[in-house]
Parts: sequence; C-alpha cells; structure tokens
Amino acid sequence: MARVNENYAKLPGSYLFAEIARRTSAYAEAHPEAKLIKMGIGDVTRPLAPAVVEAMHAAVDDLATSERFHGYGPEQGYDFLREAIAQHDFRARGVEIAVDEIFVSDGAKSDCGNIGDILALDNVVAVCDPVYPVYVDSNAMSGRAGDYDAAAERWTDIVYMPTTAENGFCPEFPARKADVIYLCSPNNPTGTVLNREQLSAWVDYANENGSIIMFDAAYERFIVEEGVPHSIFEIPGAKTCAIEFRSFSKTAGFTGARCGYTVVPKELERDGQSLNALWNRRQTTKFNGASYVIQRGAAAIYTTEGARQIEETLEYYRRNAGVIKEGLEAAGFEVYGAVNSPYVWCKTPEGAGSWEFFTKLLEEANVITTPGAGFGPHGEGYVRLTAFGDAAATVEAVARIRAM
Ligand code: PLP
Repeated sequence: MARVNENYAKLPGSYLFAEIARRTSAYAEAHPEAKLIKMGIGDVTRPLAPAVVEAMHAAVDDLATSERFHGYGPEQGYDFLREAIAQHDFRARGVEIAVDEIFVSDGAKSDCGNIGDILALDNVVAVCDPVYPVYVDSNAMSGRAGDYDAAAERWTDIVYMPTTAENGFCPEFPARKADVIYLCSPNNPTGTVLNREQLSAWVDYANENGSIIMFDAAYERFIVEEGVPHSIFEIPGAKTCAIEFRSFSKTAGFTGARCGYTVVPKELERDGQSLNALWNRRQTTKFNGASYVIQRGAAAIYTTEGARQIEETLEYYRRNAGVIKEGLEAAGFEVYGAVNSPYVWCKTPEGAGSWEFFTKLLEEANVITTPGAGFGPHGEGYVRLTAFGDAAATVEAVARIRAM
C-alpha cells in the first residue's frame, strides 16, 4: 500500500488567513453597510508597468512566429534576464555575482520552500519569531522540524529566535548551534531591516559554525535609507555562507505574473560539495524554467523606462506606508517598520492581544489587519498593516483609526 508523507499529518491547519476571512465575513454579514478597508494581505494592487506589459506583448508575438518561437528555455533562466540581474541588482551596487550563480524561478516562495531539497534532514534550522511561515512549514514537510507542540505553537526541533522591539528586531545567536538560519530583511512581518553590523555578525557566526544563511530579500526594493544592505553579498565573507532569494512580486507587481530568482555563490561548499552545483542539479531535474514571456517582462524593469515606472509604483506604496506610520504615531501607537518596507508593525495598546486589537480595528474602524500572533508567539501584542492598498483608502483607514 502506498503510504503518505507522515510529516504532512503533523502540520497545524493554516489558520491565520482563513480565520481573518471568517471573522471579516461574519462582521460584514452582520453589518452590510460597513465599508471595510483591507490592510491585511501582502498582495500588491497597482498594475504592471507599461514597459513590462509591452515587453510581455512582444514576447507573445515572438512565440507566434516560427523564427522567434521559444520552447523549453534554460532551467536556470534566460541569459538576457540573468545578465540584467547581475548588472543592475549587483554590479551596480559593487557586488560581483556571476550569471551562473543566478537561478531564475517562478518566485521566491518556491525557492525558499524548495531549497531544503539540497540539505540533510538532520540540520538544525533556526528561524525568527515572528516569521514568514514558508520557512517553517517547508522544513516541517520534509521532516526537519520534529513534532508540533500545539500548546507552545512550536515545532520541537526548530530553533525560534525572538525578534522583537526589545532586541531591536535583530535575533540573538541561538543557544543551540544552528546549521541553517533564515533571515529576512526588509522583514515580513515586522517591516524592519538588519543593518550592516548586524548582518556582518551573522555572516561571521555562519562562517565560524559552518552554517548557511538563507537570506530572503523579497522586499529589497523598498529600502530607502542609506547604508542599509540590499544584499547579504555586500557583507564580506557572505559568499562562503549564504544563499539569497529575490522576487519580482513586490518589486514590480509580479505576484500574479510570477518571477523571482535565487543566488547560490560558487564559493559556497559544505561536505566538500558545491551548493551551486547541487541547486543546479535540483532545478534541472525538478523545474523546467520560468516562462519566456514572464522573463521578458521581468527584464524590462532593468531598462531606463521600466526602472522609472516601477519606481513610481514603489513610491506610491512608500507614501502609503508613510501615511500609516505617521497617522498611527500621531494617534499614540508604537509603530515599527514602514520606512524601508511596505509593512507597518503596530504594537497593540494597553497590552491588548493581537486578535483582540484586530477585532477592535475591524469593528470600530472597519479596517482589516493581520494579527501578529499569526506569525509566531512573539508576534503576540502586534498587528501588521500593509501599504499595498489604494492611496485614498489608506488615508481613510488611518483617519478612522485615529477617530476610534
Ligand atoms: N518571501 C517573503 C518574506 C514574502 O513575504 C513573500 C511573499 O509574500 C515571498 C517570499 C514570496 O514571494 P513570491 O511572490 O516571489 O513567491
């Protein structure tokens, strides 16, 4: 008899967004007149840049001719995109990344979730708490997380590193040595960033302990402050201990189009093996490349016109983030993130629980947020608001919260 992967049976239900939807629709049904404003889900709302759309249209036309038809492409991505990435995302910032260290994919979620394929099951995995759930669940699915302790809301074999206002949202080195460490900057959900000194300390830790840092830079384009690292490879020593994930989702509105990439440096070796070679083997076996049309669209963000257009949209979201942060601060809330990030991490007032404050915002301001506790026990006492909404609706939401 075929047997299933028993690790899936241990997974807790993905309760967070389902529960938000349940509570929201119950409220909407009871109050049909309420005009709810969504600031919960981390999806973009602005359309693709015209230069991207034009490039995609032209790519479709290519496929319609026998001369320019493209079938299976390289599993690692087309060179026109990998070269643009190497030039604009790295060389322009003083970081040398070779084209064959860049693996284009259908998005950062796939890569963050799949990277564990090339790592042993007995590695000790460390994550921040609160955390983007994909890092934890993907390790749990492959049996690297132990058992789920429902009372503690934790996996027994995962090392959770509290990431809170008390430690400046920079995790401390865990007491138990970690082999694989997931870091995300700008962070989902807290919206905070790791500075050069903090990242350097983690790179030193990883090199000293033979660990690998999985660095998620999906929100890199939101960084505006001088001196904040955009890539872990800006840090000396990172090429021997880190893998970096990037995404076009929030950079250029590709949440529906789907494109991202992962950088695996050739210097990165463990057990005498090249992680770049292992990931190449994994991708060529299990992935058949991102779509030609989408990669043409992604490459258009590196043209002068495309870069200007995506920057306009990023500015639109950044203004929203500023409106939320300033409005909430003026109302007396303790607020984090928002500066280099589309996420605003707001402390609940007077020790209220995350869900309690979520409900208050829903009922009194008709604003939908995400309870911080949904991202891990140390997210308790916070809610996350996102800047991806309509500008006028964002202003309205903040006015309603201030009037509460
Ligand atoms: N990494 C983080 C931290 C995210 O928040 C998200 C999406 O919300 C992703 C990765 C996934 O990105 P993609 O749309 O490229 O799969």
